[in-house]
Amino acid sequence: MNKTISIIGSGFSSLSAACYLAKEGYNVSIFEKNKTVGGRARQLIKDGFTFDIGPSWYWMPDIFEKFFNDFNKSTSDYYVLDKLSPAYKIFFSDDVITIGDHMDQICEEFERIESGSSKPLRKFIAQAQDHYNIAINKVVLKPGISPLELVTKDTITRVDRFFKTISTEVRKKFKNPKLISTLEFPVLFLGAKPSQTPSFYSFMNFADFGLGTWHPKGGMYEIIKAMRSLAESLGVTIHTNSTVEKINVENGKTTGITVNGKFVASDVVLSGADYHHSETLLDKNYRQYSEAYWDKRTFAPSSLLFYVGFNKKLNDIEHHNLFFDTDFEKHAEDIYDNPKWPENPLFYVNFPSVTDKSMAPEGCETGFFLIPIAPGLEDTAELRTQYFDIIINRFESLTNQKVKDNILFKESFCVKDFISEYNSYKGNAYGMANTLRQTAFLRPNLKSKKVDGLYFTGQLTVPGPGVPPSLISGKLVSELIHKKNV
Ligand SMILES: Cc1cc2nc3c(=O)[nH]c(=O)nc-3n(C[C@H](O)[C@H](O)[C@H](O)COP(=O)(O)OP(=O)(O)OC[C@H]3O[C@@H](n4cnc5c(N)ncnc54)[C@H](O)[C@@H]3O)c2cc1C
Repeated sequence: MNKTISIIGSGFSSLSAACYLAKEGYNVSIFEKNKTVGGRARQLIKDGFTFDIGPSWYWMPDIFEKFFNDFNKSTSDYYVLDKLSPAYKIFFSDDVITIGDHMDQICEEFERIESGSSKPLRKFIAQAQDHYNIAINKVVLKPGISPLELVTKDTITRVDRFFKTISTEVRKKFKNPKLISTLEFPVLFLGAKPSQTPSFYSFMNFADFGLGTWHPKGGMYEIIKAMRSLAESLGVTIHTNSTVEKINVENGKTTGITVNGKFVASDVVLSGADYHHSETLLDKNYRQYSEAYWDKRTFAPSSLLFYVGFNKKLNDIEHHNLFFDTDFEKHAEDIYDNPKWPENPLFYVNFPSVTDKSMAPEGCETGFFLIPIAPGLEDTAELRTQYFDIIINRFESLTNQKVKDNILFKESFCVKDFISEYNSYKGNAYGMANTLRQTAFLRPNLKSKKVDGLYFTGQLTVPGPGVPPSLISGKLVSELIHKKNV
């Protein structure tokens, strides 16, 4: 009889693993505590406005394509992808930088800001492409079991790039602070400060300038719908409103899970829920990592988010807008070095309705505002209001328009919600940062060292945070499971 696999959670990594495992012939069931699937990528639909609750940047389209190709499908079988042009806009206190959708336009913009900067930019992006080819096509496809995975001809000949940081590299080549912030922005997706991130990780700059920013028509939730449809077509059963309360273990081997008070027998248990939470579902003697271990890790930021419906179209905005008119370094210190609410936060605003009419009612705008903050901060209604006022005032002044009286509704989401909705450790938004000390085999394992038949996937394990890495994480863990069970 085919083996039974129970998967905890229905985020990108769980859905990815479910598809690969079902394709191998296992009986796969997903158990999700919330009423809809998608994990951090859920959707809010209100009064004709559609919001992606979590991820909004569709980067690395090659990884999404490869995922669907593994099932003889293509992204175009499920959703329509548009390349955004421009990709995004960055507002500084005295200027606005627009990032076009190909290198020639981006070079022109760099020259406008710093004469002669397009030459080092092309060199930097060519090196970033080399890093991308090695990192994304080779290194991240390893399961993080042994340090030797990182020792290859490609990495040894570039070893210096693991010990220099992105910050040093960028500052060597560019002097203008606006260009420096522009080039440091992509590595924020990895969850750590650019001054703590190895220059090898400039592959994110190639993802940005080289591969471009895309948008699935209807929003990021279209990817979740596509993966759900693929999983179900392969025979996966999905249970929502199903909280897993315990991972059951007998004599060092998992026997199943307890869901809403009922035991579900399983040969293999795979958790795609936040790793720290997953381990709390085990008796203490079966946990691999102590509270002290988790406390010492560098976590990616949490976020204060607002989902806002505007009753008019707004001026001078793009689909993606970064507001870098305050001190980048100071905000990063408030997240990583001395966690506290930032005095002058940087923020990001997404208006998907600028390029996709389906996201808002006619003549209206769907706005998603995000302030990155340290995980674990105090989260109160007063603080949320105070910070909304700060950013909406700055938004009005930087885009030269009044919008406060045009707000139909606003909903917020912050640390407390990350904890209650996703069981997220300290309310992190996107997992554990990818620093040199938290890379590959130095991240929490895909396979439990203490419980036979128990596996983990998702943004706290290998390869790391973000939607594309979560898809890869699901593939890597399914390969480990299959290898052990064939
Ligand atoms: C605000 C925000 C913006 C982001 N922006 C981007 C972006 O633009 N681009 C990008 O690539 N990435 C982005 N990310 C990161 C990306 O969304 C995540 O890395 C990815 O979605 C993580 O997927 P996952 O499978 O690891 O886990 P999750 O999405 O966290 O899924 C875990 C699931 O497990 C469920 N669960 C937890 N406990 C239990 C339990 N006991 N029983 C049953 N179910 C349980 C949870 O409800 C959840 O559904 C963003 C994240 C956030 C929050």
